[in-house]
Amino acid sequence: MKEKNPIDKAIKGLARLPGIGEKSAARMVYWLLGEGRETLPDLAKVFSELREEVKNCSGCGDYSVSDPCAVCSDSGRDQSALMVVEDGKTVKVIEKTNSFKGRYHILGGLLSPRFAIGPEKLRINELFKRLESGQVKELILALSSSQEGEATSQYLSDKLKDFKVRVTRLARGMPIAASIEYLDSESLKFAIGGRQEV
Ligand SMILES: [Zn+2]
Repeated sequence: MKEKNPIDKAIKGLARLPGIGEKSAARMVYWLLGEGRETLPDLAKVFSELREEVKNCSGCGDYSVSDPCAVCSDSGRDQSALMVVEDGKTVKVIEKTNSFKGRYHILGGLLSPRFAIGPEKLRINELFKRLESGQVKELILALSSSQEGEATSQYLSDKLKDFKVRVTRLARGMPIAASIEYLDSESLKFAIGGRQEV
């Protein structure tokens, strides 16, 4: 960012956020300088807390203020079931349905030749490491039904043949949204309950 003017800097910075173009960014910045001015210190604090206090859980890889995170450190959860998801947003959605009591593993993305995302860019080795202890008996692939999601599920189920673990996928034959994020909670509950062996 070469801008020196704080207004231009803020606009350029906000315009980098997903779904926000320069026009929306400019609207936000002028709102923050005008009627939203009193929210500026709070916002600044919120963002600095995000940066300073949130780290990655060394277990599942999710963002968390503690390591291990609340889910990984909860001894009441089923240690034999591990659900593989794309990102932490998916964990939030699944947790809301209250229909899964195991643990999670976040890949941090999906395989995508288009964006040059190969297996080494995802937390796949970390996943295999977690399986080495033999504690996990069932691994549930809960990835989206997009092309990238399918390719990733396929890649993982091939590799997982080397491990003594039962591999399942969320139930199909339902209106599967490309992204799990957009499934309603009942469909998601059904998909988790009706998971099928790969
Ligand atoms: Zn965790």
